[in-house]
Amino acid sequence: MPASQHPNADVRMRGFVEKVSVEAARNWLQGELERMGPVASEEAPLDEAAARVLAVDVVSEVNVPEFDRAMMDGFAVRASDTEGASPTSPVPLEILGDAFPGRAFQGEVTAGKCVRPTTGAPLPPGADAVLPVEQTRTDPEHMLAQQPIATGKNVGSIGEDIRASEVVLRAGRVLRPQDVGVLSSIGVGRVTVLRRPRVRIVVTGDELLPAGAKPQADCIVDANGPMLAALVRRDGGVPIFPGIVPDDREAILAALNDDAEVILVSGGTSVGQEDHVPNLLAEHGELAIHGVAMRPASPIGMGRLEGRLVFLLPGNPVACLCGYDVFAGVAIRAHGGRATTWPYRTVRATLSTKLKSPVGRFDYIRVLLTQGQVEPVPKSGASVLSSTTRADGFVVIPADCEGYEAGAEVELFLYD
Ligand code: AMP
Ligand code: MG
Repeated sequence: MPASQHPNADVRMRGFVEKVSVEAARNWLQGELERMGPVASEEAPLDEAAARVLAVDVVSEVNVPEFDRAMMDGFAVRASDTEGASPTSPVPLEILGDAFPGRAFQGEVTAGKCVRPTTGAPLPPGADAVLPVEQTRTDPEHMLAQQPIATGKNVGSIGEDIRASEVVLRAGRVLRPQDVGVLSSIGVGRVTVLRRPRVRIVVTGDELLPAGAKPQADCIVDANGPMLAALVRRDGGVPIFPGIVPDDREAILAALNDDAEVILVSGGTSVGQEDHVPNLLAEHGELAIHGVAMRPASPIGMGRLEGRLVFLLPGNPVACLCGYDVFAGVAIRAHGGRATTWPYRTVRATLSTKLKSPVGRFDYIRVLLTQGQVEPVPKSGASVLSSTTRADGFVVIPADCEGYEAGAEVELFLYD
């Protein structure tokens, strides 16, 4: 269907002609994500690599360690020299000198001799075990072995940690702090990671004051801009949010023409006189979805504008959060090479009251979890954002389900 002919392109003061299912909207989005493909890669210095997505397999060029090393403070010996040693008949071995981490002993351990390494020191040639200091005594020239030791004991061998030519980390990995440590240990100072998707946040509304202002007169302070920026960061994107845009066609169009890969518009997506955005998108790009059978966030829209993916999120903050999580967040994570599953822990818990939902509608219900019992948050309209801060999480009722009876076990997505 040509974009400009979307039945909901201009719903101002008329209402939605039809609403598509969440599933249909997800399918459209899936197709778009396949069309866009993943973001390109870039190099990042190691100290900025944690939590980024690795773009290539990393193969080690080196062994870690590159030398056999002492794993304890003690004496590097030939294990066979300690045979039969005991506290009552200790074996004396001549101490040739010391070995320290980064400072090897210059010489060889031969029969009847030993070297005193500290942990991490290179094992001197000829030695094949380290007798812990606790199992020894000393006189001025000798170490007196009090126990025998087996070959290889307390020796870290070459490549014990990482072997040369081993794949250390695979492409697609979200780098953990310890991954960064391993990369450093194999001599990697820069890593090839996926670029973070750039996400332009277009917050519309003549009634909005910027973050930091106090609510006054007929105005409210923008909740969605800061919330969306935090969500985008959580999902590995770079939020671009230069400020609030008035409910003015030219101003909104200029904001939509950002070079970001994803555009999030907050507000102005519904059926009010000032809700210009769907119409603008249909005129200048494609309004593929407008109106989804879900609550909250039913006036949500999706489309594209010159290759950019555009989400029209309702201004009501709970709807904005829900619409973001159900669609936009999934898209940003997928585009950035991350998991498309929700970044919320789930638990199973018992409903203390019935939850109803008409067939055909997807519901996102903010709930409290008290001693394993789940109940909806009181005062939970789409405009009451504090319902989501008071809530422990949310329960989803899929479109094909009429809800759950009291006593049913449900899956709860925890906000924390
Ligand atoms: P709209 O989607 O623009 O029709 O807005 C729906 C409701 O959400 C109205 O009550 C707006 O004042 C409110 N709203 C819109 N944008 C925001 C925002 N950024 N932060 C808080 N509330 C908003
Ligand atoms: Mg508005």
